Amino acid sequence: MMVLMMLAALLPQQVLIATSRGQASIPVANETGTAAVAAVLLAQPLGLTVSLDGAAAHVTLNNRVFDFDVGSPFFRFDGAAYPLVGAPYIARDTLFLPLHWLADHVPRLLPDRYRWNPWLARLDERPSPAATAAAAPTPNPITGLRLAHTIVVDPGHGGIDPGNPGLTLPRGVTEKDITLGIGKLLGAELVRRGLNVVLTRATDTLIDLASRPLFCRADCDLFVSIHVNAMPAGRRQTQVNGVETYFVSDAKTEDQKRVAQMENDALRFSNSAAADGGPLGFILNDLQLNEYLRESARLAELVQGKVAGVHPGEDRGVQQGPFLVLAAARRPSILVETGFATNRNDGAFLGSASGQRKIAMAIADGIVAYLLEFERKIAGAGGAGGHAR
Ligand SMILES: [Zn+2]
Repeated sequence: MMVLMMLAALLPQQVLIATSRGQASIPVANETGTAAVAAVLLAQPLGLTVSLDGAAAHVTLNNRVFDFDVGSPFFRFDGAAYPLVGAPYIARDTLFLPLHWLADHVPRLLPDRYRWNPWLARLDERPSPAATAAAAPTPNPITGLRLAHTIVVDPGHGGIDPGNPGLTLPRGVTEKDITLGIGKLLGAELVRRGLNVVLTRATDTLIDLASRPLFCRADCDLFVSIHVNAMPAGRRQTQVNGVETYFVSDAKTEDQKRVAQMENDALRFSNSAAADGGPLGFILNDLQLNEYLRESARLAELVQGKVAGVHPGEDRGVQQGPFLVLAAARRPSILVETGFATNRNDGAFLGSASGQRKIAMAIADGIVAYLLEFERKIAGAGGAGGHAR
């Protein structure tokens, strides 16, 4: 019972099928403990045809035949047999096919026509290769990127939540001012480079921690949260310095726990009911966690490398922590701790216009480097000789 309930929590409740003819949301059935989709519903967006002959089901997609046997967790395609995590079944006179077939096998076997996006539970049907060749987009002259991307930039804290006051920032300036300064510069730079940008805040206002990731919905590729670090009182308080970049996961060290606790503390200022760790618990149980973590870690690595290159303090590397603000974004998401407001050099750098501009440029460089890699990966997976991830 517990196992079944946990499986249910892992599975998307619907999949989106996007084609050049339009898109359709298909509910995912879970009555046997394995996610399945009704073949008849797939027929509408995908043009799939089904013929049943006793227990044998012949499914034709894109003029290719997939042979299933009802009750058997295998299918045949092009003379080879492939395993499935669940078996096709018939309920209410309808053939249900495992979601696993649609999400994993179809994009792998027909890579030039279908792509599965695990973050969105979305299957994209691509135009036929001839049409693609005719309409290959030209790269952006500044970045070399070919596709449209939307970045959500999240300047930490704001309004009644000042963030950390630090010791070494200019008089009257707190973390929320630094993050807003860098965030606006970063947004402007990304727009200059041809990217779409959404700022979670552009003024000194407080956005609920739980609402920030909601800015990163369907039209969002990346979520970048900007913060300023601080050391608690003690021997190391003014010595520790430098930049570090986090992606979401369980904290491994005391230092990582401290930073996560400090940033999650903004919940004090919000009325939302997310303080029970809801979003974090949700994402950590997610089927797509591995994919999401891998991409976030890579984004963090690229951004950290660029920012460390312009920062006067130490390169503190990529870190992991259970950040609420990242957990619910459901996209590659990072949190940049841009320096310590308790260290003299870092504080002066963060408080200066040139320091903020250098950090913003470097984060933009890291984001573009990540997106270029991402586009190359997609192109490789979709090419004739390519392979699925
Ligand atoms: Zn912060």
